[in-house]
Order: sequence, then C-alpha cells, then structure tokens
Amino acid sequence: MAENEKLHCSFCGVEKSPQVPLIAGSEGRICEACVKLAHQVVSSWGQKRKVQKMAPELRSPAAIKKHLDEYVIGQEAAKSTLAVAVFNHFLRLLNQGTQSFCGDLAGVELEKANVLMAGPSGTGKTLIVRSLARILGVPFASADATTLTQAGYVGDDVDSIIVRLLEAAGGDVEQAQWGIVYIDEVDKLAKRSGGGTAVRDISGEGVQQALLKLVEGTELRLPKAGRRREGGEEVSIDTRNILFIVGGAFPGLEELIGNRIRPQQTGIGFHTPPKTAAPSVSELMAALMPDDLNKFGLIPEFIGRFPIITFLQELDVEALVRILTEPRNALVKQYRQLFAYQSVTLDITDAAIRFVAEQAIERHTGARGLRAVLESALHDTMFNLPTTPGLRRCVLAVEQQGDKRELVVTNITDTVEAPAEATPACASLILEM
Ligand code: ADP
Repeated sequence: MAENEKLHCSFCGVEKSPQVPLIAGSEGRICEACVKLAHQVVSSWGQKRKVQKMAPELRSPAAIKKHLDEYVIGQEAAKSTLAVAVFNHFLRLLNQGTQSFCGDLAGVELEKANVLMAGPSGTGKTLIVRSLARILGVPFASADATTLTQAGYVGDDVDSIIVRLLEAAGGDVEQAQWGIVYIDEVDKLAKRSGGGTAVRDISGEGVQQALLKLVEGTELRLPKAGRRREGGEEVSIDTRNILFIVGGAFPGLEELIGNRIRPQQTGIGFHTPPKTAAPSVSELMAALMPDDLNKFGLIPEFIGRFPIITFLQELDVEALVRILTEPRNALVKQYRQLFAYQSVTLDITDAAIRFVAEQAIERHTGARGLRAVLESALHDTMFNLPTTPGLRRCVLAVEQQGDKRELVVTNITDTVEAPAEATPACASLILEM
C-alpha cells in the first residue's frame, strides 16, 4: 500500500484521521460509528428472535374463554372480558415495533389495557387470573394490596411483586416481562380522608402512587437471587409489558351503579311498586363511572390505569354445587383422589353436596367456604384412614340428627359384607369410626 494512500471506512466511506480511527479486517475497514450502527441492527435481530421465543401462543378470545370454562364456573361476563383483554394485550406485544405507516393508522401506538375486577371474596377473581396465566403459559404472581407498603416502611414494598414474578419465571427476565400480576383487595387501598395529620399515609394513597409507576411501566433493578444483599448481583426488569389485573370486593359498588340505572321507587301499602330486577353485569359495566371508584378512595390516576372493568357475581347454591363437582380440579374430585391413593373409594351423595354448598353460603366466604365444610366433615375419617385395615369405601351423606341435619361418614370395610349400594340407612351394619 502506498504511503500516501488514504484509508476509508468500507461501510460509510469516512476517511481515517486521528479523530476517526478505523478497525481493519482482512478485506476492509470499519469506523466506530458504523460499529455502533451494526450493533444496533444486530441487537434488533436478537430482540425479534427473543420476542418470537418468549411470546405465548396467541389464542383467540373464544379459545381462551373455552379453556377458562374448564376451571371457572359461571362469571361469564368476567371470563369473556378477560379473554378479550388478554388477547389484545398479547396481540399488541407481538406486533410491537411493526408499525402501520399508511393511512390514518400511521404512528398509532396501542396503550396497555390493565383490568380491574370487582366482586365479592371467593367468587373466582384469583382463580380466573391464575387459570389465564396457566393457559397462556406465562409467569404469574399475585399479591394482597393490604400487605404492601410504600418503599422504606416495614412490610413488602410494591417491587416485591415483581421479585415474585421473576421467581415464578425461574429468574428469566424476558419471561417475567411477559408475565401477569394480580393484586387483590385494592379497594382496601383507600386514601386517608381528612388530612391535616402529620402521619404519613403508608397504607393507602402512597401504595397507589407506587403501584402507578409499576403499572405504567418502569425499569426496576432487582436482586438476582430474590433477596437484596450487599454486593449481590442485580438484574434490570422493565414492567412496561407486564399485564396488571387488580381485584377487590368494592362492597356496595353494584348497588351504587344499580340505583343509578334503575332507581328503586319507594312506597308503602297497596301501591308499593314491584322491585325491579338487578341489572346485568354488562349494564353495570356500561354505567360505571370513574367517580364511582373514586368514592372507594382510589385516586383518579390509578383508576385511569385500569380502563377495563368487569364484575363478578355472588355465587348461589347451584353454582357452588357445580364448583364442587365440575371443574378439572373440583374439590370432590380432589378428595376422591386423596382417598383413592389409599385404595379407598369416597362417595358423596347428591344431597351431601348440596348441603355443603348451603353451609358455605352461610359462611359468607363464597366458594372458599366449601373446602372448610368438607374438611371438617371428612377430618376424622382422614385421620383414621391410614390405620384402618380393610377399609375400602366411605360414603358422605346428610342425616337428620334431632332437629338438625348433619354430614355423616359411613365406612365400609372388608370385614363386613356390604350391600351393593351403601346408603346411610345401613350405617348400623357397618363399622363406624
Ligand atoms: P377471590 O379471588 O374472588 O376472593 P378465589 O378465586 O381465590 O376468590 O376463589 C377461592 C377458591 O374458590 C378457588 O381456589 C376455587 O377453588 C373456588 N372458586 C371460587 N370461584 C369459583 C368459580 N367461579 N368457579 C370455580 N371455582 C371457584
């Protein structure tokens, strides 16, 4: 090469100088600016590949809802609202970066649509979200809003939810960034009314403010191993694409809106107007105003971050009977399996199932009460089961004991010749525990 021959970047053509050094390859040269540009291009390939790798399989809302039906009984409006919300969320993520450059859609950016679910305790809010995450195969974490505090106070700060999500993703940041977070009992995050006190509000508005940042999207630095340690390794996680779903009982919300849609006329004597039917979930959803949630102490910015709102309804006896028997993990199936592991058949009569549902309603804890009722009815039997030789069948039935109806277990062992169909009437024939 001649002494005075000028060297140039083979990509952009810039001439070599003391300010623009070049890296030489076997055939050509490259300047710093082109190295940076090439790095950006290659990284975007990597991003695209990662998105394809991490993305959950996109299922139609109908397919998501069909899957949800296997786990969640009733709550049709909530299931279909969430199916659409989740479908749109992942559709948006999968198409991130692929912009439409023509017509009036040019430059349109889709905002994240987080979901708020209002419904009494034990009606399936957590179950729906957990089932959704399972169907989609994305990491899932749930938290109780009442345990969260503002950063710097005793208790879990809001970042702890993302730590849990990262754990659920097995430490994989990319996976966690596609995750779903469920925060229960947000209606208990009411800001404190009646200011003027010097006490900092650590349980209400402060937590809402902290959550706001998380929900909107922020870059968090979290300890890699879950717990913060001096000198411990950290990872950076972006919450922009995490879908946040919040739930709460919001007691009285339905009535509040219902009364606005159909004011109950009052009257006495012969002219008492008939009670109007309760409005449907879709009517409630259509009539809900941000101000209604504001009355529960949620700050407007927080409400604004949850544009999709749905309602879950109180479960009646019929729904509880179905919950006991129909879902994939139905409680009755679970107990039968538990007994089957010990080679014992558990039969629960239809009347007993109905009785369990009625008892759960009396406890006012929704479907959550079902397990407690069954557990106490079967407790003694389960205690003695492994140490009772020859036991092969247990029947749970309802019996009239004086003026009360009670759940009674009848045990059938090999030592006693049991009739083909055991009924509570044959209890005296068989060994009682
Ligand atoms: P919530 O979050 O509304 O307080 P959960 O979803 O935690 O209630 O419900 C508690 C348990 O009750 C669930 O694990 C599930 O076993 C049962 N359950 C509640 N609602 C339903 C439903 N609609 N269908 C099937 N099971 C339900």
